[in-house]
Amino acid sequence: MSLWTPLDSFGRPNLLPGISAYTDKITKEEESSLILSFEEHGKQKCQCCGASITKKMRRNLYVASRWWNACPMCFYTENLDLIPDNNKGRLMYMPAFSQARLNAMLRCFWAVTYFYSTEPENMVLREMNSTVTQEINNLTSINEKSAQVHFSLADPEILSSMLYLVPKEDYEKRHKLLTGIRWYPKKALFSDEIDYWARNDHSSLFPKETNGNISKFMSKYMDSNFAVRNMDD
Ligand SMILES: [Zn+2]
Repeated sequence: MSLWTPLDSFGRPNLLPGISAYTDKITKEEESSLILSFEEHGKQKCQCCGASITKKMRRNLYVASRWWNACPMCFYTENLDLIPDNNKGRLMYMPAFSQARLNAMLRCFWAVTYFYSTEPENMVLREMNSTVTQEINNLTSINEKSAQVHFSLADPEILSSMLYLVPKEDYEKRHKLLTGIRWYPKKALFSDEIDYWARNDHSSLFPKETNGNISKFMSKYMDSNFAVRNMDD
């Protein structure tokens, strides 16, 4: 497995499950310059995973020694303690996926389900939705078991309580313990954002013709998922 680095090869932060306790408060100047950089570009995106975000969805995220404009999925990864109760999600061992990639893949799945909900009589969407639902079930059962084996826990709440107990210098080295561990969010936490992401980032999944989309989607998805499956064999 490759060594963990604070930034990936695109200069984006490698997110890790974390808590809010050791983040300093953002200053007014830092926040203004962050908002300025967010508004400067025509397309307003999460700087960590690339999701489209509105001003309302934007969060200040402190990671890799600087502030970033982040989507709520990336923000909650590093702030597990701030996730509302009942929607904490799970932890999984998925070393083949960065957190940003996992977030992007889940949004893609959720987009299919969203499009299907808008046109339940559409047979192509129905088929895509059933494939995606099955894939999500497979993915979660394989990787949740794997988290328990590799890390002995899958509950973000327990991990946040543990992280509160470690001194800051150890917290900053938590990649040693958490490399490969990803936060697997609950869809319900993003019920306000999913339609925005589906319409802005995944509109190409919506079937304009009655063939081709599902095979295109699945071949794209299977390529990225293959590595994970292999690691768990
Ligand atoms: Zn993001």
